[in-house]
Amino acid sequence: MADTITLLIEPLPADADITRLDATFHEVDASMPALRVGELSTQRGDGIFETIGVVDGHAQETRPHLERLRNSARICELPEPNLPQWEAAIARAVAALPPTGEFALKLVLSRGVEHGPAPTAWLHVAPAAGFVEVRRRGIRAVTLDRGYGRGTAERAPWLLLGAKTLSYAVNMAALREAKRRGAHDAIFLTSDGYVMEGPTSSVIIRRGDVWSTPAPSGAILHGTTQQSLFEHLGATGRQTEYRDIPVYDLETADAVWLVSSVRLAAGVTHLDDRDLPYDADEARELNAYLLSPRD
Ligand code: PLP
Repeated sequence: MADTITLLIEPLPADADITRLDATFHEVDASMPALRVGELSTQRGDGIFETIGVVDGHAQETRPHLERLRNSARICELPEPNLPQWEAAIARAVAALPPTGEFALKLVLSRGVEHGPAPTAWLHVAPAAGFVEVRRRGIRAVTLDRGYGRGTAERAPWLLLGAKTLSYAVNMAALREAKRRGAHDAIFLTSDGYVMEGPTSSVIIRRGDVWSTPAPSGAILHGTTQQSLFEHLGATGRQTEYRDIPVYDLETADAVWLVSSVRLAAGVTHLDDRDLPYDADEARELNAYLLSPRD
């Protein structure tokens, strides 16, 4: 069984009602050229994406990811994606994977080829790098200024904050800066000192029994993992809330977590130059939940 699958997808209009969805996918060899040089996703990062975790043959939280893809398309003024078509593509890829193991399944919807009439789309699924140690031992993180004040998303919607666009060069630069400072990851702050998110993750803090995350006001992505974890925490008697989190609350939290779809929950053991409390049992509990089949 192949552990890497790539499907080129002819994106259908959102309202198209087609029974033979399979005919709109075309499997290609990921090691062979598949995109045109005029592709705006590669030339300008002009497109959107989602990354879904697949655990033992189950694609986690498919609907929330597809709803966020639809929201990103709306913000970027891309054609609304046909969600049944994407669901069928995901199902086809997952069915072809080995029944056990962890995989990262990426969906991409690009504005298409320069001067071309139609958007382009593809799905690529590959084995997920081993995150077992990171989930167990946690990570070191640094805070980095994102350069935006609170309220920027509303004042400047053309910045496309809140959309999961392909323009991740800044996010990757932040990870390099974190590594230069001896850390594994970063936490973005607004220029007025409030917690936003990681370059590829949501931030959750715990004080006592209360778990908090920044409100997804438009400046950050609303993480599917964070939402799923909050459902679990609520269902098991813990209190959760969305609120503005000043950097002081991050530095003095009882626990800080970076959560995302493939790495899952990574506890922050050091923030900038200080140690943070870290509970390995809590890490085990959160990741056991996140690895269980979730919809
Ligand atoms: N914020 C950013 C900027 C991200 O890139 C990601 C995931 O890649 C997240 C948050 C977490 O989102 P999710 O939990 O849906 O993976």
